[in-house]
Amino acid sequence: MRFARTLPLAGLALCAWLGLAGAVTAQGNGRSQSEFPVATDARLEQSGETVRLTMALSRPIEVTTAVIAGPDRVIVDMPSTNFQVQPTAARKSAGFVSAFRFGLFTADKARIIIDLAQPAVVVKAEVRPVRGGFGELVIELRKATRAEFQAAVAATPARDPEATAAIPPQAKPAGETRQTIVIDPGHGGIDPGAVVASISEKSVVLAFGVRLKEQLEASGRYRVLMTRDDDRFVPLAERVGIARAAGADLFISIHADSLTQAQDVRGATVYTGSERATDAEAARLAAKENQADAVAGLDASEDTQDVAGILMDLAKRETRTFSAVFARNLVEKLGGSVKMHKVPLRSAGFRVLSAPDVPSVLIELGYMSSPKDAELLNSAEWRGKAVAAVATAVEGYFTGARAPIGKAAENRR
Ligand SMILES: [Zn+2]
Repeated sequence: MRFARTLPLAGLALCAWLGLAGAVTAQGNGRSQSEFPVATDARLEQSGETVRLTMALSRPIEVTTAVIAGPDRVIVDMPSTNFQVQPTAARKSAGFVSAFRFGLFTADKARIIIDLAQPAVVVKAEVRPVRGGFGELVIELRKATRAEFQAAVAATPARDPEATAAIPPQAKPAGETRQTIVIDPGHGGIDPGAVVASISEKSVVLAFGVRLKEQLEASGRYRVLMTRDDDRFVPLAERVGIARAAGADLFISIHADSLTQAQDVRGATVYTGSERATDAEAARLAAKENQADAVAGLDASEDTQDVAGILMDLAKRETRTFSAVFARNLVEKLGGSVKMHKVPLRSAGFRVLSAPDVPSVLIELGYMSSPKDAELLNSAEWRGKAVAAVATAVEGYFTGARAPIGKAAENRR
């Protein structure tokens, strides 16, 4: 018995909802999100032993479902879809469903993930016609015993590592003399990151990354790539892979965290990678950010980019030195124009900072949980100031701070 199934549907007409679609262009496949089917009006309802998730759709699509354990989830895969659903709607829970979320997963695929607080199985996954030529996605789950759930998990076919290569890695072109910088806006697609009110971390950091790219490119001195330039999910290992394949000289990951307990904690923090965290808060944050793949329903086993060996250790140590130099530079320049956290320079085991040969830092722009920070993070004026400070730090790193140990850098590759 195969639990995952495909349910084709046809005959539904499309219409005016496309007009609502965002103008964001999906990179790489040349399609714009305005061509995707539109999903609106997500609803989660419980009735007895059953929980039903519904969404209105603008046209027929195929959906497949899979059940996975640890954490227990139901995954609904579908073609690229433009979700016009408030991010906060994803926080609703009902019965044994503790949460659900949705978003672009790869260039051609979208995904809904339903988190289970107790075992359940899929009894219905279909798109049915409704009046006006639209469709309605219906996912119906029933409470199950642990054994029933395990049987459904066992019957789910192994998924290929399809999440990889959403953006083909770009190697450094021959004769390229500019420094290569990879900007990594955190989260994206199905993984919204921190969500406060109707603002999600994934859009705040994307806006920042796009602006930073423009500013760095304007100098004419850098080749700047992004791990994502639209609202899509990119696995952590792939972010690292893009930087390594590009022969990046610098990798800058952008985030904006939230703390549920402390609304008064504010300011920007710069992190470097390290096996040992400088403090408990840094460790907690790294653990949270490292969950990104799991949030998107990716198996941990799909991440296998580990490098070993003595030479690699040496390269790593050197890379860490450069990362630390750049991080100090960043704290100094950022501190001159925006509010910093009281301990602004810290380290922890962020997986996204694990490239052995690319100096990498992660900037937490501020805390979305602080109303003050949230307001700033959303303001173009603040963004302009912070982007300028980061650009100055980048320039300082390549022209001055890095110079005394620059010789060693040449041995890196
Ligand atoms: Zn984050």
